[in-house]
Amino acid sequence: MIKIKMTTAMYGAIVAANLALRCAAAPDPDWLDHDRDRPRPLAIKPATSSTQEQAGQPPSDATVLFDGKDLSQWVSMDGTPTKWIMGKGYMECVKGSGYVRTLQNFGDCQLHVEWATPTPPHGEGQGRGNSGVFLGLDRYEVQVLDSYEANTYADGQAAAVYGQYPPLVNASRPPGEWQFYDIIYTAPRFDAEGKVKSPARLTVFHNGVLVQNNVELTGPTSWLERAPYQPHPEKQPISLQDHGNPVRFRNIWVRELGKPGRKEFTLAEKLLDTYCGKYGNGDIEVSREDRQLVARKSGVRFVMFAESPTKFFAKTTDFRLEFMPDSDSQVNKVIWSVGEGANEAKRDGKK
Ligand code: MG
Repeated sequence: MIKIKMTTAMYGAIVAANLALRCAAAPDPDWLDHDRDRPRPLAIKPATSSTQEQAGQPPSDATVLFDGKDLSQWVSMDGTPTKWIMGKGYMECVKGSGYVRTLQNFGDCQLHVEWATPTPPHGEGQGRGNSGVFLGLDRYEVQVLDSYEANTYADGQAAAVYGQYPPLVNASRPPGEWQFYDIIYTAPRFDAEGKVKSPARLTVFHNGVLVQNNVELTGPTSWLERAPYQPHPEKQPISLQDHGNPVRFRNIWVRELGKPGRKEFTLAEKLLDTYCGKYGNGDIEVSREDRQLVARKSGVRFVMFAESPTKFFAKTTDFRLEFMPDSDSQVNKVIWSVGEGANEAKRDGKK
């Protein structure tokens, strides 16, 4: 029952977020009031509630990021396998191993994450069961902390948007108990010059209680300072923080909001490096900038997004690349196309 109430509340929050962004919250003028021909919303199976003993089932239209069985959708930040460990139905942070992130990228979304801090509790303040759920790769943190009868600064406790917004109430459960966040994230938008068109927004329910109501972020999460926004692609991995404490996670799922689009992934930097070089007598030049490939074709620069380990697409022009590894995983040619067809370009300097 609690899930149904929460879904209604979330729907309200999504509408509020859209209103705030002035994007399509008004009734669609293409349809009459009560129009009998209007397509009905897709019927899905809603989520079932978790208990302390057992994780619930995600809604049928969710992308399951962690079902308690394996870490296949999670990697360390550079894309190599993570050192976080699996327990019975959960994953656990290993001190010093770094954040884990999803392979897939997500923009506006509804995210469900269940977590438990260590019991008996260990440490004080920010050192007591600290982790975090980050949207926008490692930029926007919803704090994970043991805040049950524990004391730390308000904008750093559990369910705070760290350093910016304390939660409306402290809805924490005792350490060792499973708790959950339902997060609605609106990614920030940037114009072509990198200026903020609309900031990131977060709505958070902690154990079913509204604790962040569509708050507008001032920029990325930071410590000791108020950091300004840096432009980034709308869709980014979701990550979980290694703050040195063995915090556990289970039952993580996400539902993408907004227009359906092509799936996007952030691949391992090592793999991207195997694609870098010149092809077709310098006609196509591929390089890596941070976690993304950039291609220059006939002198025009394209930021490329991965839709699979070998296929990439641009978002400004229908320009696509498919790298063709040979049996030794050497990449000596690329298939490229603009709008139509398929053309082969050999890597320069190879036979
Ligand atoms: Mg944290």
